[in-house]
Amino acid sequence: MKKIVIQNPNLNHGELAGHPIELSPESALRRQELIGKRLAVQVSPLPGEGLPDLFLRAVIRNGYQLSSTAWRLLPGGTYRSVFAHRNFVDLHFDDQTMADFLGTPTGAADVEPLRYSRLSNGVFSFFGAATKISNLAAHRRVSPRFLAQSGYQKAIWSFLPIGFDPANREYLLDRCPVCNVELMFGPTLGLCFCHGCVDPNDPTKGIVDLREHPQELVDLESYENLDFACSLIDPALDAKRDATRSLHPDLRIVERGQIFEFIAIIGRLLDEADGNRGLTSVSPSSLHNATAAVRDWPSGVMEVGDKISRCLEASGL
Ligand SMILES: [Zn+2]
Repeated sequence: MKKIVIQNPNLNHGELAGHPIELSPESALRRQELIGKRLAVQVSPLPGEGLPDLFLRAVIRNGYQLSSTAWRLLPGGTYRSVFAHRNFVDLHFDDQTMADFLGTPTGAADVEPLRYSRLSNGVFSFFGAATKISNLAAHRRVSPRFLAQSGYQKAIWSFLPIGFDPANREYLLDRCPVCNVELMFGPTLGLCFCHGCVDPNDPTKGIVDLREHPQELVDLESYENLDFACSLIDPALDAKRDATRSLHPDLRIVERGQIFEFIAIIGRLLDEADGNRGLTSVSPSSLHNATAAVRDWPSGVMEVGDKISRCLEASGL
């Protein structure tokens, strides 16, 4: 086990004191057994949190400013210049090793449901839903309102087709509102802070608190279709749910991740037909309309297909 050095924990940032592991005889015993294997300050997965999010929170709680520094402490961990959700597909650490390193209270069972398993070329399992690896963001996207309320980040924020938090419907922030730097997983001054805006008197302290920059909320007449679409993919929701059961029998045989992909493709075409090309995420209004079309299969999809064709022809595409 390599020597672990705690580097200037950011006590003022709150993460070090936040979300402590619940004390019990079992957790105390495991804490003792893991001495020499785990980070000094343990973490436990929170609802909706992905393994990269959990790892980053552990990094921050243990006072590191670079995820790659902590990564190298893992058995067999090598330097990584890029650190993001995509790095967690094809992890070569087993669940037990990662759980022991993070000091999660139960062990391998804490990590297993969070693991991103590759299903085929370019496709992986996102909490049980098959989806494209390219759907994972290479940077950090956050909901400032959720951060202010709950103090941790959720895996669904890294899922590019959805540009808002499915629970509070706040548009996600992916750049510092002050210096405009893209938020990262690598260098960090805390989950709630921009890593580029640094206190000149203390290089470990961020001065732009993202929680103080709430974003607009999605504004639609009805949220039923958005909720339906998000329920197909959001790990924060009940894992036993399966909204596809309410779809036309033709579509019930299709896995929920693929249904979401179908909706997202239609949504992106609707955005293009509306003149909004190259958006990172599907706009909420197009996600709403695409979901409504799929829920009204087959006529709904045919109607929306006609609309897309007319608009693209009119614009010369
Ligand atoms: Zn900044």
